[in-house]
Amino acid sequence: RLRAQAQWQQRRASTADGTAVQVSANVGDVESAHAAAESGAEGIGLLRTEFLFGGRSAFPDEQEQFESYLAVFRAFAQHAQLGQTIVARTLDAGADKPFPALEPLIGPLHEANPALGLRGARIHLIYDELLRQQLRALLLAGSEADIHLHIMFPMIATLEEVRRLINIYHETRAGLETAGIILRTDTQVGIMIETPSAVFMADALARVVDFFSIGANDLYQYTMAADRTNGRVTGMFGLLEPAVWRSIYRVVQAANQAGKLVAVCGELAADPRIAPLLAGLGVQELSMNPPAIVRVKAALHRRTIDYWQQRAHDLLLAETVTDALTIVETAEQE
Ligand code: PEP
Ligand code: MG
Repeated sequence: RLRAQAQWQQRRASTADGTAVQVSANVGDVESAHAAAESGAEGIGLLRTEFLFGGRSAFPDEQEQFESYLAVFRAFAQHAQLGQTIVARTLDAGADKPFPALEPLIGPLHEANPALGLRGARIHLIYDELLRQQLRALLLAGSEADIHLHIMFPMIATLEEVRRLINIYHETRAGLETAGIILRTDTQVGIMIETPSAVFMADALARVVDFFSIGANDLYQYTMAADRTNGRVTGMFGLLEPAVWRSIYRVVQAANQAGKLVAVCGELAADPRIAPLLAGLGVQELSMNPPAIVRVKAALHRRTIDYWQQRAHDLLLAETVTDALTIVETAEQE
């Protein structure tokens, strides 16, 4: 078994007929960046930068951020054999990720519905200096570590938000370059798709970004109107609600039509029964916690892409979560 495990760690993920699917890692600190490289991740598909900002009364300054990002980038890049792309998500504060240090900057965060309140990109836009600092630190650390850096913005609802964020990104980059700093030119800019609004606007959004990453945890929460931290409501629904599956398909179609890459991070991508079906739907990259990587690579390789495509499209016809589960279980056993 250990031999089999090591074999998956060293090879790129593909279906039985050799269709490539990128399997990447969700990382939240230096240790998990190490674990990602050792587990055979083909990149970091989601670097949650929240690790740096939690449990303190004042936020880290730019220099401290630079050093911390550099440590994470190096922890991955020095050991990873299958890819050097790191997707860093800008601070996703708010909702299930509260940060007391924000209050002196943006005012009290006592909200009746924090999941529907100030979070992620909304905070970037009301206090953009924090975002500019983070972008400078990320860009400098990316160049220093010589990795292929992608930047990703969380909690997007509208095209206007994305335009403003991309402007801030270009201004920040230009500022560094004016100061004589040489940055790598292969940086891509993408967004998370986590809200029904972003799903319906995916065609317009796809035209202005380089890639999408579907945050399946939040997309589930906002599609089903079920607080992800409230087990009593999430327990009322299944893992693969048809509404969520159809939303993902809509996003994939929009991305494909615009020729942009689409990834899924979030727990759905880590489920070995569901990950191959996401690939069948047209998702090109799956990002997950490092321990899931070997399992998902093995699952993808069980069948051809044609097979996964057929089952993924069967799932689009499911009208209840029970129907969906039957399709998933049949595909698992066949
Ligand atoms: C998600 O929402 O699916 C996601 C990956 O981001 P987070 O869980 O950090 O909100
Ligand atoms: Mg999220």
